Amino acid sequence: MIEDILAKAGSGALLERQDALRLLEVATGSAEYYALLGAANAYARTAFRGRGVIFAQIGIDAQACGVNCKFCSLAADARRGQPACIKTLEETVELARELAASGIEDLFLMTTAEFPQEKFLAYGRAVRAVLPPQMRLVANVGDFGPAYAAALKEAGFTGVYHIHRLREGTDTNARPQARIRTMDVVRGAGLELYYCVEPIGPEHTHQELVDEMLRIRDYPVGVMAVMKRIAVPGTPLGSQGEISAAQLAKICAVTTLTARPPRAMCVHEPDELCLMAGANQIYAECGVNPRDNSLETRLNRGFSTEQARALLQKTEWEV
Ligand code: SF4
Repeated sequence: MIEDILAKAGSGALLERQDALRLLEVATGSAEYYALLGAANAYARTAFRGRGVIFAQIGIDAQACGVNCKFCSLAADARRGQPACIKTLEETVELARELAASGIEDLFLMTTAEFPQEKFLAYGRAVRAVLPPQMRLVANVGDFGPAYAAALKEAGFTGVYHIHRLREGTDTNARPQARIRTMDVVRGAGLELYYCVEPIGPEHTHQELVDEMLRIRDYPVGVMAVMKRIAVPGTPLGSQGEISAAQLAKICAVTTLTARPPRAMCVHEPDELCLMAGANQIYAECGVNPRDNSLETRLNRGFSTEQARALLQKTEWEV
């Protein structure tokens, strides 16, 4: 029975590793499954005061990325022979202006690890200049040190999306310690860290998932997320398939109850089930997208702000 664990979560106590592992054992479609989703939904509706949240991300560059993540459409192996495609600063600023006016809360700028750091700061400054002062601006880039964290802040960024990916160093060329050091640098600089358990595939163990759910206890994280791996054609892991929507909703619920994010809980790929299982935040996406072979994800996988708003409203989140 998981009743005791759900009661513990409901009381506000932190769940232990063994609690999260037990919740991940729950069978899809069982009474316990719906109790788990219900408990996560109850947490989210209260903690987020019924508010749904829309963030947006602009993917700036498609170029062969040497980190070569085995799930990513922008990885060097996946892009072999294809020309680079990079948004100009002017295009990026225009998109930022449009997204800011569409009703989003936070705006993310994403690049591959190949994008020059100084150039990214220039993009950041130019985008910051057209955003409302209260709008958060978030960097989603490769690893960096303290001096660059200070420069990001100076350029007007308020936060950074940075994670230790599942099987980092095995399914990616990044060094796990470098990823964690960058997260430490983000915390040290007073930038907001955004975290996610990703990219979740059928092969990942419950222990691996819980490692990432618990990692945020070392950091102040306001916005947590879960993301399933998309089987992108042409990527090495594309043949390994995807977890089901039912599995993703269970992982979303367990992550919500374990991480207890105070500001928002995000899910990729967004669906109604996860928005009734702890998630209240989804993205509008444009430009390139590691989960999409289209260079303009708005034409394929990416949601517009209107589509994100409609999905949140379907599940009775106020936006
Ligand atoms: S996920 Fe990011 S770091 Fe990894 S290959 Fe893709 S763009 Fe590069």
